[in-house]
Amino acid sequence: MVKRLQTDVLVIGAGVIGSAVAMGLGLKGVDRVTVIDLDLAGEWSSSELNAGGVRATWSQKVNILTSKLSIEYFASIAELIGYRDCGYLWLHRKNSWEQALKGRELHIAHGWPVDVLDVQAIKKKIPFIDKTDDLVGAIFGVKDGLVNPNRLKEHYREEAQTRGVQFVDRMWVTASNAGSLSSKSSKITIKAFQFSDQISSEHKRVLLTQNPETLGDEAGTWIEIETKQVVNAAGAWAPHLAKILGYQSPSTPVRRQISLFHARDLDLTPYGMIVDPSGVYFHPESVYGLSGFCTPGEPAGFDFRYDGEGFFESHIWPALYERATAFESLRHVSGWSGLYENSPDHHAIVGRSHHSSIYEAHSFSGHGVMHSYAVGITLAELMVNSKYETLDLTELSPDRFISGKTIASETWVI
Ligand SMILES: Cc1cc2nc3c(=O)[nH]c(=O)nc-3n(C[C@H](O)[C@H](O)[C@H](O)COP(=O)(O)OP(=O)(O)OC[C@H]3O[C@@H](n4cnc5c(N)ncnc54)[C@H](O)[C@@H]3O)c2cc1C
Repeated sequence: MVKRLQTDVLVIGAGVIGSAVAMGLGLKGVDRVTVIDLDLAGEWSSSELNAGGVRATWSQKVNILTSKLSIEYFASIAELIGYRDCGYLWLHRKNSWEQALKGRELHIAHGWPVDVLDVQAIKKKIPFIDKTDDLVGAIFGVKDGLVNPNRLKEHYREEAQTRGVQFVDRMWVTASNAGSLSSKSSKITIKAFQFSDQISSEHKRVLLTQNPETLGDEAGTWIEIETKQVVNAAGAWAPHLAKILGYQSPSTPVRRQISLFHARDLDLTPYGMIVDPSGVYFHPESVYGLSGFCTPGEPAGFDFRYDGEGFFESHIWPALYERATAFESLRHVSGWSGLYENSPDHHAIVGRSHHSSIYEAHSFSGHGVMHSYAVGITLAELMVNSKYETLDLTELSPDRFISGKTIASETWVI
C-alpha cells in the first residue's frame, strides 16, 4: 500500500542546513513545511561529525559575510549552543604571510576583527607553542570560535517546530517526477520509503554509502509526497538527490578524519582553534585535544572508515610534535571520519535550481555549520519573496556552473 502526504514545502535532509532552512521558513510564517530525513539523529551526517569551528576568516567576501551574520547570531544565543569566541589562530610561514595579511585587510574592511601577531606575540598568547623557528607570524580572528553543532541544530529545529514545521524520521527519498515536469510546474511528487522501526547504525551506513536498489518492502511503507516546493539539503548526498530530482550537481563527497588526543601535562581548554601551516588544525574538546587534517589525494566517495592510530601517527602527531615540546608525548584516544561536500570552487551551492520550485542548500565544502544561520534565513527569503533581503547570496547560485559566471575559489579551506 502506498500512503500519501501533502505539504507546501518539502525540505529533504535535516542536518544543520535543512534545520536552519526550516527555521527560516518558520520565521517567515510559511505554513505546511515538512522536513524529512533517513535519520533525524544524523548519526552519519556531517552535522554530527564535524569539528565545531566557526570563523569569518575567509578569502572571499561572500563567505566572510555569511559567517559574520551567522556568528553574530550564535553570539546572541551563546549559552544555548555552546558558542565561545575563543578565536582562530592561523600560524604562517614566510610563503603564505603576504596572502594572510591581504586576507586580513578584507576581514577588517567587512567589520570582522582580526589581530596580527609576530612570533613574540604568538608565544605570549599561546605559551606552549615553543617551536617557532619556521614561523613569521599569525593572524587571530578575535570573534571566531567554537560551537556545539548538535545544540545548534536542535535549536533550529525547536524554533521551526514552535512555528509549525513537521520533522519526519526514517524517510528515505528514492524517486521523483521532477525530471519529467516543465520547469514551471508547481506540483512535484516525491517517492520515499518510511521504515517502521528504528534503523540500526550499520543499516543506515549501508543505505547512505551503497544506496541499495531494494529496501525490503516489509520493513516499512512507501509514501508519495506531493509538494509545491522542494529544498535539496542532503549534504554530501545532494548530488545523488539532485539526480532523483532531475538535474546534475557538481559536488563530491570526500572523507575527512578527526583524531582525539590526550596531552598529559597540557591544558588546552583556555585556547581556541589553532591552524598550523602544515594544514593540521586542533582545538580543545572536553578534556582532550581534537585535531583534523585533509589527507592529500583522498579519493571522492562515501567512506566512513577511520584509519585510527595510523592516521594519527602519520599525519597529526608529526605536525604537532614540530610545533610544541608539550606535544612530543601525546596519546591517541579515538577518532572518526565524516564527509566534506566539496563543490568545484569550495563555495556552497545555494539558491533556486533550474526548476523554479526546487531550491538548493548544500555543498558547503566543510563550512556548513558556520554558514547555517545566514543560509537558513536568506534562502527562506528567496523562497517566499523571490529575492534576498538580509544578505545577497546570488553569487552562490547553482546557476554559476551552467552559465559559466564563475566566482573566485575560496582558498582559506582546511
Ligand atoms: C570532519 C569534518 C569537520 C568539519 N568541521 C567543520 C567546522 O569546523 N565548521 C563548519 O562550519 N563545518 C565543518 N564541517 C562541515 C559541516 O559539518 C557540514 O558542512 C555541514 O554539517 C553540512 O550540513 P548539511 O545539513 O548540509 O549536511 P548533513 O549534516 O550531512 O545532513 C544531510 C542529511 O541529509 C540526509 N539525506 C541525504 N540523502 C537523503 C535521502 N535520499 N533521503 C532522506 N534523507 C537524506 C542525511 O541522512 C543527512 O542527515 C566539517 C565536516 C567534517 C566531515
